[in-house]
Amino acid sequence: MALDKFFRRKRPKAAVSEDVPELWSKCSSCGAQIYKRDLEANLKVCPVCSHHHRISVEERLRTLLDPDSFEPRSGSVHPRDPLHFVDTLPYTERLKRAQQRSGRPDAILAGLGRIQGSRLVLALMDFEFSGGSMGSAVGEELVRAADLAVELHLPLVVVCASGGARMQEGAYSLMQMAKTIAALGRLAAARLPYLSVLTDPTTGGVTASFATLADVILAEPGALIGFAGPRVIQQTMRQTLPEGFQRSEFLLQHGLLDLVVDRRQLPSRLHALLSLLKGAA
Ligand SMILES: [Zn+2]
Repeated sequence: MALDKFFRRKRPKAAVSEDVPELWSKCSSCGAQIYKRDLEANLKVCPVCSHHHRISVEERLRTLLDPDSFEPRSGSVHPRDPLHFVDTLPYTERLKRAQQRSGRPDAILAGLGRIQGSRLVLALMDFEFSGGSMGSAVGEELVRAADLAVELHLPLVVVCASGGARMQEGAYSLMQMAKTIAALGRLAAARLPYLSVLTDPTTGGVTASFATLADVILAEPGALIGFAGPRVIQQTMRQTLPEGFQRSEFLLQHGLLDLVVDRRQLPSRLHALLSLLKGAA
């Protein structure tokens, strides 16, 4: 047999090879092989090293809220393309693809729900949709969530996961920072609690606006939280930056966060905080 034919010849498949990747997952932090079902039952927290793997918006809803308590209120605001932005793809095409994948118009899901019986307005950012970036539709949905909380006299909880402002919407995207902050001002004036949960990653204009303006700022362990990337900061400050300076634990030590909470304890911690703040209002 000619040598090239030998290498092209198909090898017989091992009987179990197709099933193995389905059943096992490798921890991206410690490399442990974990049975997928165990990882999911543990809310995607590694049972060996406690690394918090990213979870989808749907998984977040399931892990945070009481079963069947969610009533969606977002989805009517659709993003626009005011700048007719084109990079390697037109922005409209990118949006269409992300919308088809996620089944929602933009990178946010908001609505009413209960955490251990406490009623609240909840907004979740979807990192899988365009990096959870905030354009005008995401900003508008956040404002509506805050206004709904005021209208129904309920607390607001936002779970952040975002790369920051959406580049393709330029200044329209940056305006959302001021717009969301104004809505939070109305919430504060109504003496209603606002809690934010920063998950991996929370960066850019989201960190610089509503994510870090909460009454209590919580974060998941090991989450990347910052404004600019480390290289930009290093070049600007001309200083060597400390190890892990943009991770939850460092930021807790330096006063940017109030609590770092394990995902498995998040519902009970949020419930305790909401009960406490309700009494204080
Ligand atoms: Zn691990």
